[in-house]
Amino acid sequence: MSTSDQNYHYIIVGAGSAGCVLAYRLSQDSRTRVLLLEAGARDLSPWIHIPVGYFKTMHNPKTDWCYITEPDPGIAGRQLQWPRGKVLGGSGSLNGLLYVRGQKEDYDRWADLGNSGWSYDDVLPYFKKSEDQERGADAYHGVSGPQKVSDLRLRRPIADYFIQAATEIGIPRNDDCNGATQEGVGYFQQTAYKGLRWSTAKGFLRPAKRRANLDVQTRAQTTRVLFEGNQAIGVEYMLGGRMHQVGAESEVILSAGAIGSPQILQCSGVGPGDLLHRVGIPEVHDLPGVGRNLQDHLQIRLVFKTSQRTLNDEVNSLLKQVWVGLQYALTRTGPLTLAASQVAIFTKSDPSVDRPDIQFHMQPLSADKPGDGAHKFSAFTSSVCQLRPYSRGHLEIESKDPLQYPAIHPNYLSDERDHQVAIAGIKVARRIAAAPSLAPHILSEFVPGSQYQTDDELLQAARLHSQTIYHPVGTCKMGDDETAVVDDRLRVHGIGRLRVVDASIMPEIVSGNTNAPTIMIAEKAADMIVEDAHHNAR
Ligand SMILES: Cc1cc2nc3c(=O)[nH]c(=O)nc-3n(C[C@H](O)[C@H](O)[C@H](O)COP(=O)(O)OP(=O)(O)OC[C@H]3O[C@@H](n4cnc5c(N)ncnc54)[C@H](O)[C@@H]3O)c2cc1C
Repeated sequence: MSTSDQNYHYIIVGAGSAGCVLAYRLSQDSRTRVLLLEAGARDLSPWIHIPVGYFKTMHNPKTDWCYITEPDPGIAGRQLQWPRGKVLGGSGSLNGLLYVRGQKEDYDRWADLGNSGWSYDDVLPYFKKSEDQERGADAYHGVSGPQKVSDLRLRRPIADYFIQAATEIGIPRNDDCNGATQEGVGYFQQTAYKGLRWSTAKGFLRPAKRRANLDVQTRAQTTRVLFEGNQAIGVEYMLGGRMHQVGAESEVILSAGAIGSPQILQCSGVGPGDLLHRVGIPEVHDLPGVGRNLQDHLQIRLVFKTSQRTLNDEVNSLLKQVWVGLQYALTRTGPLTLAASQVAIFTKSDPSVDRPDIQFHMQPLSADKPGDGAHKFSAFTSSVCQLRPYSRGHLEIESKDPLQYPAIHPNYLSDERDHQVAIAGIKVARRIAAAPSLAPHILSEFVPGSQYQTDDELLQAARLHSQTIYHPVGTCKMGDDETAVVDDRLRVHGIGRLRVVDASIMPEIVSGNTNAPTIMIAEKAADMIVEDAHHNAR
C-alpha cells in the first residue's frame, strides 16, 4: 500500500461524461487542487474519435467494461450486453453521439419530488452553459460552452421517406427536439465537430489538462472511499497491481457512472445494511437505496427490408468501403460520421397521454443487434422505446472484492403498465411503415415479422426483440425519501464530504438520451460545490 503525500481539495472518481466536466470546472480556480482518477486508459484509439467507431469500441475490453446483465424474465430470460466506457470520456467516448435533453416536464417533476433547484427553468441555463451549438444561440441554446453540438453529416433518401411518413400519420415536423417542444419528427443533432466525436474528454478535459492544479491518473481503479467516522477523507485505488491511498481535504466526488458509483459505495460500506452484512463489508452507513431504482430505456427493434439502397449495401461492398474511407478522409462526411441514429421521433403511444411517452431511433441500416455486422440485404431499423418506464431494476455486489462486477438486474417489462406502451409502440412503428411515403419502398417486415399480430404476440415480440439503448440511470437517486442516496445538492445522505455526480442521481429517467442531461448535472454540481466551499469557508 502506498499513501500519497500529495494533498488535493477534490478527488473525482471517474473521467466520464460527468467527471471530465467537473474536472474542468473545479480546476478553473488555480488555488483548487484536483485529482481525477480513471480506471480506463487514455482516449488514444482513432476509433474513439471517428463517430462510427463505436462499432469497434463497444464490446472491446480495452475501452468497454463489458457488463452482462443477469437473466431477465421480462425479456424471455435473455441476458444483455451493457457496454459502459472504460476510458477517458467514459461512455461519452463510445456512445452514439445523439444530443437530446429530455422534456421540460422531466425536470419540473424532479423538482416536484422535492429536489429544489432542478426545475426546467433551473437547469436550462446549465444546458446552455455547456453548449457550443453549430446553429447559433437562441433562447434554448448556447454557443460559448465546451460541448460542441452539430447537425448530421449524412443523409439517405430512406430517412427522408421515414420522416415524411411520420408526418402522414399526424406526427408534426420538429427540427429541434431540444427547443421549445420535444414532440415531433426530425433529424438528430450530435456531439461532434467537423466529423469527429466531441466527448467531454475532448471538450472539457483536454484544455484543463494543461492546468498545474489538475492531476489526471488513468488506469487507476478506485476500490473504496476512506472514512473517518462518517466523513469521507480520501480514496483507495488500484494502479499497476498495487493499492494506493490518497486524501481529499474538501470532498470526494463519485462520477463513476450508474454502475460504478453504487458499486463503489457498496464496497465502501455505504449501502443496504443486509447486503453489506451478507458480503461481509463493515457498515459505515445503512443506505437502502444504493443500487436500487435502476432504470433504462428498452428499445424494441423493428427491421424492414426495403427496395432502397441502405448503408447495409455500402458496408458490405469492398469497393464502397474504399469510397466511404476516402470520403471521410477527404471531406469528413459520409457513413463514417454516422451517429447511432439519424431520425428522432418523440410521440404519444396513445392520444390520451399528456406528453410524448415513446421515442423512435431510425437508422438507414440493420443488424441482428447493435454492434453486430450489417445484414446482407437492404434494410433499415425503426426502434421504439418507452421514455418513462415504470419498471425498476437493481444492482448489487456479490462479494467484497471491489474488482468483481456487480450483479445487474434490469427487470425490464416487469411493470404491467409498460406492456401496453411496448405493444402500442410496435403498432405506431407499423403505421409509419404503412404510410404513403414509406410503404412503396418496403418489401417486408423482417423483425419481428408479420406473424406477430395480437397484443399478446406483440408483447412477446417486445420480450424477444429488444435491447438496451444504453441509458442506465437512477442507482444513487436524488431525493429525501428513504430510498434516496443523495440530497438535492448531490451530497450522500448521512455522510460528510462525499457527493455523487453522474447519471446515477436521476430520480426518474429523462424522456430521451442521457448524455446531455448528465453533462448538465455535472455543470450544475460544479456550481453547487464551489458555492458550498465558499459558504463553509465563511
Ligand atoms: C454504447 C453507448 C451508446 C450510447 N449512446 C448515447 C447517445 O447516443 N446519446 C446519449 O445521450 N447517451 C448515450 N449513451 C448514454 C450516455 O453516454 C451516458 O448516459 C453517459 O455517458 C453517462 O455519463 P456518466 O458520467 O454518468 O458515466 P460514464 O460516462 O460511463 O463515466 C463513468 C467513468 O467512471 C469510470 N469508472 C467506473 N468505475 C470506476 C472506478 N472504480 N474507478 C475509477 N474509474 C471508474 C469509467 O471507466 C468511466 O470512465 C450511450 C451509452 C453507451 C454505453
